[in-house]
Amino acid sequence: MQNPFENAMTQLDKALKIKNFDEGFTARLRVPNRDIRISIPVKMDDGSPKIFEGYRVQYNNALGPYKGGIRFHPQTEINEVKALAFWMTLKCAVVDIPMGGGKGGITVDSKTLSKSELERLSRGWVRALHDVLGSYKDVPAPDINTTPEIMDWMSDEYSKIAGDKSGTSFTGKPVDKGGSEGREMATGLGGFYVFDALRAEVGLPQKCSVVIQGFGNVGSHAARTFSEHGHKIIAVSDSRGAIWNKNGLDLEKLETHKKKTGGLKDFYKIDPQTRNITNEELLSLSCDLLIPAAFENVITEINAEKINAKAILELANGPITPEADKILSQKGIPVVPDILANSGGVTVSYFEWEQNLKHEHWSKKEVFEKLKSRMEDASKKTLEKARESKTTLRMGAFILALERIQEKMH
Ligand code: NAD
Repeated sequence: MQNPFENAMTQLDKALKIKNFDEGFTARLRVPNRDIRISIPVKMDDGSPKIFEGYRVQYNNALGPYKGGIRFHPQTEINEVKALAFWMTLKCAVVDIPMGGGKGGITVDSKTLSKSELERLSRGWVRALHDVLGSYKDVPAPDINTTPEIMDWMSDEYSKIAGDKSGTSFTGKPVDKGGSEGREMATGLGGFYVFDALRAEVGLPQKCSVVIQGFGNVGSHAARTFSEHGHKIIAVSDSRGAIWNKNGLDLEKLETHKKKTGGLKDFYKIDPQTRNITNEELLSLSCDLLIPAAFENVITEINAEKINAKAILELANGPITPEADKILSQKGIPVVPDILANSGGVTVSYFEWEQNLKHEHWSKKEVFEKLKSRMEDASKKTLEKARESKTTLRMGAFILALERIQEKMH
């Protein structure tokens, strides 16, 4: 896989060609403040010992405590975590929350572990890192394959070690354990608010046909939200395959099918108008809006030419390589960048932190109103920066973020 951190640095270089920033500041931004690798010993259910490799990258805390998710994935490695932590730094700045950028992970195929092995591994990650975590130091959150239950185990482990029962050191917890209302759907919903604010700007019609890659936390909530607002979801995929119905998928039936079978494939047995297609075919379908919501580096110089969408909303982190970005721009396909489009997740994580610190519990309505207002404001400011410098929305978001971080670092 292309090195995601090199991709992130290429994006940074491009932004620095558009706007001048202080040299000392940009040198600091090319390296994380801390990059920690840990070994996590876990006793497996059969009694055998196994050592897992884990990470926490604390990239930059000029704006506030490090904030960012923890990813459990077999391909997770230090360069991926560094890239994600760098993007988190910019993301928090774009959406104007007082938090810095961090990210964590474990190289593991969590689906092969039993629940108790997964719990021991999650608690092990916290035991190895507890001294650098904390409500005013570093506040982790969920990402790929990390659930509210995992965040609860981690928060509990931290509270036992640190003697801090406030629950303010982890976000994405279950609602009855101090989590915020609406956190699980925040990234998908936030992405919808961004889309709505920029729809006319990127030249899309009022009702769009939408293709979504990835049907996990982010993709499935995005599908539901777009559909509830009258857009037609014509195709979705997960790691095992994709399905397509040019008249629009019945999401309710699809969710039931997914719960029963564990995947999306063979939905045509429930809805004969739906066809199984490959993940590659999904990316080249003709549609108004393509939403990558799975993984980084999925649109590259190899397949960018084949993209047949009128615009792209990046809900995954880093789904488009810099080479592909160039091709899409030449093809006239606008991209709403990840550091703006998927910032709804960290925004509600920040709300959770704030509620925990103040001993408050906000209603879903209140959370969504605050989220909407921040997403709209960040979209507007990104667009202003893009227009000012006659550049793309990605570069507009970079400039907005870099200006805000530079101001705090001086
Ligand atoms: P998840 O584990 O809940 O879901 C990931 C989905 O992607 C699954 O459906 C999986 O089957 C699918 N997938 C994996 N590889 C694929 C492939 N090659 N083709 C098609 N589908 C594939 O993870 P998530 O939390 O939904 O995160 C998805 C993306 O969104 C990641 O890039 C993540 O960093 C980003 N993100 C997540 C959040 C959040 O709040 N969870 C916030 C911001 C950004």
